[in-house]
Amino acid sequence: MRQRSLLLPTLRDVPADADIISHQLMLRAGMIRQIAAGVYSYLPLAKRVLHKVESIVREEMDAAGAQELTMPTMHPAELWQETGRWDKMGGELMRLKDRHDRDFALGPTHEEVITSILRDSISSYKKLPVNLYQIQTKFRDERRPRFGLLRGREFMMKDAYSFHATPESLDEAYKEMYDAYSRIFSRAGLTFRPVIADSGAIGGKDTHEFMALADVGEDTIAYSDESDYAANIEMAAVKINYVKPDVEAEDRTKVDTGSAKTIEEVSTALSIREDQIIKTLLVSIDEEWVLVLLRGDHELNDIKLKHELSAGAIRFAEASEVADILSAPVGNIGPVGADGVKIIADHAVSAMVNAVCGANEENYHFTGVTADRDFKVDQYADLRFIKEGDPSPCGKGTIRFAQGIEVGQVFKLGTVYSEAMNATILDENGKTQPMIMGCYGVGVSRTVAAIIEQHHDENGIVWPPSVAPYDVHLLTLNSKNAEQSELSEELYQSLKKTGFDVLYDDRPERAGVKFKDSDLIGIPLRVSVGKRAAEGIVEVKIRKSGEVIEVAVADLAEVLK
Ligand code: ATP
Ligand code: MG
Ligand code: MG
Ligand code: MG
Repeated sequence: MRQRSLLLPTLRDVPADADIISHQLMLRAGMIRQIAAGVYSYLPLAKRVLHKVESIVREEMDAAGAQELTMPTMHPAELWQETGRWDKMGGELMRLKDRHDRDFALGPTHEEVITSILRDSISSYKKLPVNLYQIQTKFRDERRPRFGLLRGREFMMKDAYSFHATPESLDEAYKEMYDAYSRIFSRAGLTFRPVIADSGAIGGKDTHEFMALADVGEDTIAYSDESDYAANIEMAAVKINYVKPDVEAEDRTKVDTGSAKTIEEVSTALSIREDQIIKTLLVSIDEEWVLVLLRGDHELNDIKLKHELSAGAIRFAEASEVADILSAPVGNIGPVGADGVKIIADHAVSAMVNAVCGANEENYHFTGVTADRDFKVDQYADLRFIKEGDPSPCGKGTIRFAQGIEVGQVFKLGTVYSEAMNATILDENGKTQPMIMGCYGVGVSRTVAAIIEQHHDENGIVWPPSVAPYDVHLLTLNSKNAEQSELSEELYQSLKKTGFDVLYDDRPERAGVKFKDSDLIGIPLRVSVGKRAAEGIVEVKIRKSGEVIEVAVADLAEVLK
């Protein structure tokens, strides 16, 4: 490709509204442009990287026996009503109406659609298992779209769905997908960690998230320094134990969030990162009051809190009991019922929730909250966050924290969707049973941003060769010089013939400008044709190490391999 005719609008300065490196570099390297919050165009350079990532995903999915299909992005409301998610998804579901006033959604995920297809096309265990995938644009009206491609409202996902007649068959597929994901992210050049994750909102069983390690990651991973144990902190649970006001706890962390009005104030008071606090629940575990702080984007009423944390031990109390314990008027305590789950919040807690997530009684379903009395959390709270240095729940080693970007997730769904949608098969004994399902997602566009978070330096992106937009960046340092231009043209043609993807900077720009752009867009190998063109000598620079060598043209193809 000749750079002269490539749409590659690079920027010198760091854009003001981009907070993190991958967002800044993708804007500066002319890869993306925003048209609305969380909605981006992928310009040609980004498109090539997306293609590379998609190819890796396709190869690994095909190798694992999955079949590609394409489902619609526009879904009729009726389908989502069958599973109840038309209501449950709340604000995250992008909704629209057609000219006849019929309701539709833009697909955030495709369990409903795929289950409807399988329900209509498979009726015997003999046709199972099957695993189907697509790579497609997804829509989610995220509460806080941010960080460029890391959290968009329109983004690229690979989603796969497997269907089975037996739990053993699902276990096999899950393992296959888990292994395929490990290969996908390794091939994409990511340093990552699979972690045990929370299956709360979807209501399935086993699930792992694949976390690309990066400081900007919104997820906190709690892992053991002596074993493979690693869990999303949502699973490892951040908790505050309730203690009665008259209980003296030596190591109690006092916290006064009663007057905190902003997320910053609360996170400072609690010494935890702002984005780790989204929801606060006061629940009773084994007769002990525990204030559970959860992060994540679940709607509160979706949380069933059936984590390992509780393992059946959670007891959701009546308002009057809590009032007793807190010596607070019942009117200050709001029992919250959703899906049979009662969540109790006294007004101090809900004030904290309000301060933390900008929620109001309405969207968090708190009732009976008054603010006229001055309760403070430090009257009865003993903070016990899982901290670094705590013993690991696996029994081996101590807990360490790391930040991660969720680039993928594998999930044993079980029969939640097939039961709700009546997707059944006849089993070996001629008995009707619901299909057993798994689902598996890769954030394709998010993966590109995660790669940049891990592969850059002060001058720009440093693409791992497997996902680089081009293999070689060929530069003519002085395009007015005939010898240089001629040699460059020759090399451009011959390198392409040898099988390299070449970006050829044939622009009438100064060498300095070309070098800067070249470092910024980060193609692994740079070939500069300069002063020694007449002697048939060019300069090769390895973007990653910065190593520069002079190479005779005759040896060039060999050196670049
Ligand atoms: P998150 O916890 O970050 O909101 P999620 O758990 O809601 O992600 P999934 O439903 O598991 O996401 O979707 C599969 C994959 O799609 C995720 O692992 C992630 O890589 C990607 N993804 C999800 N939401 C977004 C988004 N808003 N922008 C970009 N990629 C996303
Ligand atoms: Mg989400
Ligand atoms: Mg998640
Ligand atoms: Mg997920």
